[in-house]
Amino acid sequence: MQLVSFCFDDGFAATQAHVRRAFAPRGLAATFCILAEPERAQDAAVRACPVAGWETWRAARAEGHEVECHGLSHERLADLPLPEAQAGLARSLAAFARELPGFSARDSMFHAAYLAVPRALMGWLADRVLAVRTACGRNGLNRVGDIAPGGPVDCVTFGPQAADGPAHVRLARFLAEEEGWLVLVFHGVGEGAWGPLSVAGLDALLDLARASGARIAPASRAFRLVQAEARSRAGRETSL
Ligand SMILES: [Zn+2]
Repeated sequence: MQLVSFCFDDGFAATQAHVRRAFAPRGLAATFCILAEPERAQDAAVRACPVAGWETWRAARAEGHEVECHGLSHERLADLPLPEAQAGLARSLAAFARELPGFSARDSMFHAAYLAVPRALMGWLADRVLAVRTACGRNGLNRVGDIAPGGPVDCVTFGPQAADGPAHVRLARFLAEEEGWLVLVFHGVGEGAWGPLSVAGLDALLDLARASGARIAPASRAFRLVQAEARSRAGRETSL
């Protein structure tokens, strides 16, 4: 199987509009990974562009996109005492459940800021979310069998320079040489202080993936597809 997910972190307002305009005519869905309390974010790259509000995220979900948790205010989880990190994430997930009708943390991935989650917090998250998007050192590739419910999912992101070239190279290599699920992470589209992707660059990536026959699905839906593939392969092995 060749499956590709496009995640857009930090909740930038102009970015989500560009993404929705690019995905809709192609019948595709993305994953927006947003902060529960972005107004409290300290990171200059996160503060560089205006963010969208819950009303916008409800509209994005109504179009079929996923809107999932990227933390409370872009906190660096490894720097926080465990109880503080847990309390912040609990507050974040409660805000998602309150603001997004039908949102279920158990059915949604958590997308860690800075792609880092301390081991003790991974165990806590495993009981609460579908899976945790972090960095596992596989350049964004998750093969069938690499992932398990509540566990880590690898991803690849591009910055601080423009994301267009490196993202194109990574996707082309996946399509030509690899099997499994590639998770691509972007920040701003047509804007952004870290690893911006141009609007034309986004169009080109979507068309490249589609031309090769790869399936594009948002992250949590893709996770379930990979799990279903793992179960089906296990079933085939049992019946041999
Ligand atoms: Zn982020």
